[in-house]
Amino acid sequence: MKRYFLLMLTLWVSLIAFAQTGHKPAIAIHGGAGTILKENMSATMEAEYRAKLEEALTAGYEILETGGNSLDAVVAAIQVMEESPLFNAGKGAVFTNNEKNELDAAIMDGKTRLAGTVAGITTVKSPVAAARAVMEKSPHVMMIGQGAEQFAKEQGLEIVDPSYFYTKKRYDQLQKIKETEKQQLDHSNEQGSLLPQFPDQKFGTVGAVAVDQEGNLAAATSTGGMTNKRYGRVGDVPIIGAGTYADNNTCAVSATGHGEYFIRSVVAYDISALMKYKNMNLKEAAEEVVLKKLVDFGGDGGVISIDRAGNIAMPFNTSGMYRGSIDTQGKLYIGIYKEE
Ligand code: ASP
Repeated sequence: MKRYFLLMLTLWVSLIAFAQTGHKPAIAIHGGAGTILKENMSATMEAEYRAKLEEALTAGYEILETGGNSLDAVVAAIQVMEESPLFNAGKGAVFTNNEKNELDAAIMDGKTRLAGTVAGITTVKSPVAAARAVMEKSPHVMMIGQGAEQFAKEQGLEIVDPSYFYTKKRYDQLQKIKETEKQQLDHSNEQGSLLPQFPDQKFGTVGAVAVDQEGNLAAATSTGGMTNKRYGRVGDVPIIGAGTYADNNTCAVSATGHGEYFIRSVVAYDISALMKYKNMNLKEAAEEVVLKKLVDFGGDGGVISIDRAGNIAMPFNTSGMYRGSIDTQGKLYIGIYKEE
């Protein structure tokens, strides 16, 4: 009798384990949206972007394929892009008006709906790792500036000199934008207005969303923000619900675009809410927000999103978005421009 009971128990436990691991993993990433046109891109540059996106996707997918969790996968994918000067995150981040690199990042666990974010940090090599530490090692959700840096250091994360993030390309970009802005200001001063504008931009933020074999979702995003940002400006990335969100009941979302609009449109949570309260599917919800609501509002950008079944939607309302995915069939896709 005792033997029979043990046998049944083992069978039952195995059945539960099987049901829990019955999900096919999938991952999607972005490396920013914006005015990305084929005529402005050299073949070498394009090949570099495609190769780096593939490397990031593969780093995340390998973890999922071998039974790892979605949080580890999104962090691994993002760290490949943070370390590449091609993207506006980690090394290669854009410059603030006073010529610094101030980094924001976020991560959210769809299973527990725990989240961690950091903003305005200048010395942590991997901002997404700092966000994860906030989520897992502190009772808080958001830490900013020096406090966040001190916490990251205490957690043993790699600390670098701020010059690590410098790239000449981004520095020159800032100088060009400042010059344009100066001309605009001189002109608008004549007309009595002092409002500076962000000129047309490329948003090079990086993000990843994934579903693992247990059906758990995760989303993470990392950025240098907007070129020429001022006065401790924080964008949508570390605002949970704006640039980053994950809930196993709906979807995981990571955004890229003009942060101010994404905050006011509560983009990532809105997509989740349309699924939850209006029963929209992932594609309908993501397109409703990015292609209708944001367009009416004047917010440029896009999102990557995934649901538990591994469906992926990556709408954007700009001319391009660096993006890629490996779906539940293991099929790799990389895209940059609108039609591909
Ligand atoms: N969303 C980011 C921000 O506003 C910028 C980007 O997507 O590149 O900070």
